[in-house]
Amino acid sequence: MKQAAWILGDQLSLRNSALQRLDKRSDVVIMIESLEHARQLNHHKAKLMLCFSAMRHFRDELRQKGYAVCYEELGNGKNFLQALRDAVATHRIERLFVMSPREYATVKFAESLSEKLNIDVALTPDSMFLTDRDDFVKKHRGKKRLIMENYYREMRKKLNVLMQNGKPVGGEWNYDKENRQTAKALVESRLKIPPVWKPERDAIDREVEALVEKFFPNNIGATEHFCLPTTRRDAERFLDDFIEHRLAHFGDFEDAMLQNELILFHSVISPLINIGLIEPTQCVEKAVEAYRNGRAPLNSVEGFVRQIIGWREFIYGCYWLKMSETDYHEENFFNHERPLPDFYWTGETKMNCLSNAIQKVLKFGYAHHIERLMVLGNFALLAGVKPKQINQWFWEFYLDAYDWVVTPNVIGMSQFADGGFVATKPYCSGAAYIDKMSDYCKSCSYSPKEKTGENACPFNYLYWDFLMRNEAKLRPNNRIAVIYGALDKMPSEQKRAIRESAEKFLSNLKPNAYYS
Ligand SMILES: Cc1cc2nc3c(=O)[nH]c(=O)nc-3n(C[C@H](O)[C@H](O)[C@H](O)COP(=O)(O)OP(=O)(O)OC[C@H]3O[C@@H](n4cnc5c(N)ncnc54)[C@H](O)[C@@H]3O)c2cc1C
Ligand code: SF4
Repeated sequence: MKQAAWILGDQLSLRNSALQRLDKRSDVVIMIESLEHARQLNHHKAKLMLCFSAMRHFRDELRQKGYAVCYEELGNGKNFLQALRDAVATHRIERLFVMSPREYATVKFAESLSEKLNIDVALTPDSMFLTDRDDFVKKHRGKKRLIMENYYREMRKKLNVLMQNGKPVGGEWNYDKENRQTAKALVESRLKIPPVWKPERDAIDREVEALVEKFFPNNIGATEHFCLPTTRRDAERFLDDFIEHRLAHFGDFEDAMLQNELILFHSVISPLINIGLIEPTQCVEKAVEAYRNGRAPLNSVEGFVRQIIGWREFIYGCYWLKMSETDYHEENFFNHERPLPDFYWTGETKMNCLSNAIQKVLKFGYAHHIERLMVLGNFALLAGVKPKQINQWFWEFYLDAYDWVVTPNVIGMSQFADGGFVATKPYCSGAAYIDKMSDYCKSCSYSPKEKTGENACPFNYLYWDFLMRNEAKLRPNNRIAVIYGALDKMPSEQKRAIRESAEKFLSNLKPNAYYS
C-alpha cells in the first residue's frame, strides 16, 4: 500500500511521528506552502521568511536522507486541500499519516481529510513535546485552575532532570528568588552582553525573502534584520552559542530590560523549537551538562530548564485542555471591550517603554518575556483592551507565535481573561516595577513617580483604576488582598484624581483600524 506523510510547517523534526511510519523506499513525504493559510493573518514578514525557508531546507534534508518529497511551492497558489488532492492522485496514495497538528483548527481540518480525500488518514501523536496532551486533558479536565509549579515538579521527577536521590539538585525546586536582578544591577555589574551568533544567509533564504516581498508586500515588519537559523545544523549551533555565552547569566538577569538591548541573556530559541528545528530534550540536556561541568550556575540552569519542561509544556497542555472545553480565544473575564490602540502598529506613543518594545517587535519580531508580559500585555490589561484583539496582535507580530502558545500566554497569563486558569493573579503593575527592572523611565516624557495628572506615568493611574473597576471580581483573590488593603486606605480625593486621569488618558487613545 502506497503511503504518505503530510508534514506541516511547524513539524520539521526528524522525530516527526508521521515521518517515522514511512518506508522511504516506496512512500512519499508531502509538504505544502499554502498562500491561503499564510494569508489568514497579517504575519510578520520575518516569520514568513523563517517558516518557508526552514521548510525548504527540511525538504532538502529529507531528500538527502533518501525520502521522496512532493513539495508544493507558494507560487503554485494551491491551498492545503488542493495540494493534497493533487499529491494523492499523482502518487496514487492510499494512506496518509499526519502528525497531530498543534493548533485546534488544523486538527479539525486533518480529521476531515479521510472523507475529503477518500483515502485512509491516520493522525499520529505529536512527538515534539514531552507531554502527552491527551493524558494532560484527561488528568486535569474540569479543574478551575492549574498551577505550573506543580506540573513542573512532576516533570522534573518524571524526566529525572536536575534530580538527586529523588530530591531536587541543590535542595530547592526553584531559584527564582535569585533571578530578579534589576537593570541597574546589570549596568553596574559591567557585564558585557555577548553578541548573538548569526548564520550566513544562503540561496534558499534569499529566494524566500524575495517571495515574501512578492506575495506579502503589505504585511507588517521586514525581513532585512532577520538573522535566525533556517537549517537544523545552524539551529543547533545557535543553541550552543546560547549555552556557551549567555546561559550563565540567564537566571540573574531574566527579568531585566534595557532599551538598547533586544536579547540580553535570553536564548531566542522559541522560533526554532516551535517549528521543530531543535528539540526540548536537546535544550535541557545541554543546559544540564553546562551545569555539571561548571560552565553555568544552578539558578540559571534551573531557570532555563523550568521554561522548557515547565512553562512551555504546561502552556501546551493548558491550550488543549481549554480548547477541549470552550473556545479559549473568546474568554473575557473582565468584559474588556476597548480596541487595541493604533500605536501598537507604529510605536508612536510618548510612553517610552511601550514605544521601544513595539519598535523592537516591528523590527525583529521579538521582544523578551518581561517586555511581553509587563509592558505590552500589562498596558493592554490595564487599559481594558479586548483580549481577542491583543491576542491577535501577539499572534501576528512575533516570530515564535502559534495559536497553542500565544493564546494561553495572552488570554490566560497576560490578560487574565480566563479568570485565573493559567495565572493565580493578574500580572499587572504600575511604573515602579518597570522603573526598577529597566532603564526605560530615564528617557521617558512621563514621570514614574507621579501618580496622577499630565506628567504622571499612565501605568500608575491605570493600575489603580483597573483595580477599582474590577474590585468585585478581584477582591476575593487572596493573592491580591494586600493591594486592596492599600486601596482601602487611599483617600477618596486621590481615588477621584486617579479616575479622572485614567478617563482622560483612555479617551484620547486612537483605536486601531485593523481588528473588529
Ligand atoms: C503575552 C505573551 C505572549 C507570548 N507569546 C509567545 C509566543 O507567541 N510564542 C512563544 O513561544 N512564547 C510566547 N510567550 C512565552 C515567552 O515569552 C517566550 O517563549 C519567550 O520570550 C521566547 O524568547 P526566548 O526564546 O528568548 O525565551 P527564553 O527566555 O530564553 O526562554 C527559553 C524558552 O522557554 C520557553 N518558554 C518560556 N516561557 C514560556 C511560556 N510562557 N510559554 C511557552 N514557552 C515558554 C520558550 O520556548 C523559550 O524559548 C509569550 C509570553 C507572553 C507573556
Ligand atoms: S515612565 Fe511610565 S511610560 Fe514612561 S517608561 Fe516608565 S513605565 Fe513606561
